[in-house]
This record gives sequence, structure tokens and C-alpha cells, in this order.
Amino acid sequence: MKTWNNVTKLCTLFLVSLCVLVFSNSASAAAYRKWCTTWTTSYTDAGKGEDYLNSSSPNIQRPARYTRVILWDNTGSPSNYKWSGFLDENGCTPSLTLIAGRTYYLGQATYAANGTKEFLVNDDNDYFDNTAVWVTFEKPVPTVVDGTSDQFTFYNTWVNPKANIMGVVGQILRYPDKIGTPNNSRIRFKTNYTGLWPSCIYQGAYAVNGDICLTTGTAWQDTTNWKYIVSHEVGHAITYLTQGPDPTGVYTDYFYNTPLCCCNHIGGYGQPESSPQGTHCLQSKESIKNAQGEGFANFAAVAVMNTRTYKDGIFVYGKPTWVYNNGIFSVQQPPVKVLAYRGISLNQDDQWLDRRCDGINQPGAGVELDWQRFFFETWTHGSSVFSADDMHYIWRTAGSNVSWANLQNVVNARWGTGSDKANWFASHGDSTGVSPY
Ligand SMILES: [Zn+2]
Repeated sequence: MKTWNNVTKLCTLFLVSLCVLVFSNSASAAAYRKWCTTWTTSYTDAGKGEDYLNSSSPNIQRPARYTRVILWDNTGSPSNYKWSGFLDENGCTPSLTLIAGRTYYLGQATYAANGTKEFLVNDDNDYFDNTAVWVTFEKPVPTVVDGTSDQFTFYNTWVNPKANIMGVVGQILRYPDKIGTPNNSRIRFKTNYTGLWPSCIYQGAYAVNGDICLTTGTAWQDTTNWKYIVSHEVGHAITYLTQGPDPTGVYTDYFYNTPLCCCNHIGGYGQPESSPQGTHCLQSKESIKNAQGEGFANFAAVAVMNTRTYKDGIFVYGKPTWVYNNGIFSVQQPPVKVLAYRGISLNQDDQWLDRRCDGINQPGAGVELDWQRFFFETWTHGSSVFSADDMHYIWRTAGSNVSWANLQNVVNARWGTGSDKANWFASHGDSTGVSPY
């Protein structure tokens, strides 16, 4: 610590000329500044009451959390950069030493990382490419002056589906353990399906081997507008990365020709699954494997958009949905608000497989809505909760045998038969209706 007294003592010990030099240096204080930036996001489900990314206004600025940026000054090209790296959880650089009298510029990429967990949004030709879309700021920003020590935010006004994706991945990277985002993982998004990327050959929203296609032109319109769809597909990608390949993706095996339990009401919202693999929706009777996979992806979207202690678990669904009102079920068009928490007793949409689809004692069948609630309830609401990593462990260990009996066996072996967690697993399987007993 250098105080005035210390400096005075120094002056008594050394030559006056040296003291002049010390004072001269302290008079021309260096300039420090944190540079922060944003993404402009617009989500069609805005204003449904979720905890995060909730707004009813268009074009909201979100902190560019964990975004890759490059900062350069007006003396040269971006290659003469001042700083490059990933922003912090508030979308800011560290405090940087800057040169007075210069104007600085910032470029930000559709690429984000927190440690070794990465998300990359790009559309170019190279399947293995690391590059992203770079958004640069052309306008000069306040010129650095001597003695500056402050924070300045670049408000990025780029309106693009990729900016919406970046708003969601920033939220995921802030709390990656919520949905078990693995280390040393890079999840890639494509928003263009015109044959440039081999995996994205269909229009729609889907995950392929850990990568995510979010394209336009379907009944979803611009699917990348929808934060719940973005995080749902991330849930699939993480499942692939943590549990291994999903052998199905075919939705025809339990087709059940009862209006409440098939997808005849969803119209064009079934793409690209509608043919020839069949389609699926929140309340359709499916194979248990598919219902678990889709239920987990929906749970992941709920977890990303809500805090763990907020008990309603607001989920906004992107396909037409059966909703109970005034004594009857009718179809509501998306976006449809669905609560992942079933604790409101006697919900008419509770235990859908058992109560609407003749599902009792059909251990090979499942409904996405029931499994979504099971995952949400075992993840929150008590002292014996399961983390997302616990869930990934259970399904990875269970392998291809995902019957309820085998899942409970895995839990008993890992945490002990009769343990609080084993009992928690069993009781919520019963209350949500996913266990066939
Ligand atoms: Zn899905």
C-alpha cells in the first residue's frame, strides 16, 4: 500500500529527481475499462411468467454471457487486437488497461464457452469448423481518456435468430449443472438447412448426434425465435453426449388412435418427424424410451428457464395441446403454457398415460408430459432430489433396458435400497404415473 507518508519517507531517502519521477508517473494514471456487450433477443413465448428471459417486449438486450469477443483500437485492423477471449457471466471483459486518446471497437462471435463447455452457432460449409458469425461494431464509442476507470456497454442491435440462440446458451452456461452440460463438450447449432450441413437435411427443430438444427419454413415459422425449443434441443444433445446414442427417433410403435393420445390435432407442427417415422407430441402415447427422451428435453427447457426452487416449473410448448377448461378438453394453439409441477391436486392433465390413454400396466408405453413432470419433481422440491447428472447416470447405466423396474434397480444399486433417494424416485414414479404399478 502506497500512502502519502510512505512517499514522503521515500523522498527523504532518495534524490529529489527520483521523487519528481514518482509524482509524474502517478499524475498520468493509466486508463482501465471493462467492456460489456449484449445480444438482442426476441422470443415469441415472451411473458408467460418464467423466471429467466421473460419479457413481453420485442428486441430485449441480454448480457452476452460467456460470448467470445475481440477488442481492437482505431490504429489498426482487428488483427491488431487489444484483447480477445470469453466474456464473464455479466457479458463483460476483465478490467483492461487502455491507451488514452484511442477509440475502441468490439466484435463478438456466435460462440460461447464457460471453461470447456462450449456452444457454437454457425452455418458455413465446414462440418468441423470452429468459426462463428462475427458481429462488429462500426460506431465509435467513448474515447478513452487519461484516468478512466469505468465500464462501458456496447448495445448490440443485431436482430437475428442466432442472437436468440446466444441468449439461451448464455443462460445455460451460467448454470450448466442444472441440465448436466458435460465438460469437454461443444454443442453446435445450424439455422440453415439448404444442404450446407449434412445433418440438417429437413426443416424444423431437431438434434442429430449431439448437434442441433433449427431451421425456418415450417409451422414453427422461425423456430430459432423460441427459447424453449432451443433449450429442449440442447437437452437432447446433452442426453446424447452423456448417455450415448438414442436408438429410436421412431414414433410409430405405440400409435394410439384416440384423440387425446395421438397427434392428429397438431397439424403441420409435426415436421420433420411426421413421415415416415411418425410424429410425437406432449400427450401422445409413445414407447417409454421416446417418452423419456422427449420428457427429459422438455424438463431441460423448464430447468433452463426457471430457478430450482420456483415450484411451478413453467413450460411453454410449441405444438397444439389438449387443455382442460370448463369440463372439457379442447385444443389450444401454441405457445401453450404448461406447468411441469403436478402438485396442484386433481389436475385434469395429470397422469395422462394412465388416465387418458389406458396406460395402466403397460410398461412399454409412456407419455412425454408424465415423464417431464417426473424429471422436474425428482429434480426439485425436497432434500432427496436428483441432479441432472444423477439422471444421466441412471439412464447411462440402464442402457437399452429403460423399463421402470430396471431404472429403479439402478437407483437402488447406486444409492441403496430403501434410501431416501430410492424412496424419492419410487414415490414420484407413482405420483406422476410413470411407474406402471
Ligand atoms: Zn424433442
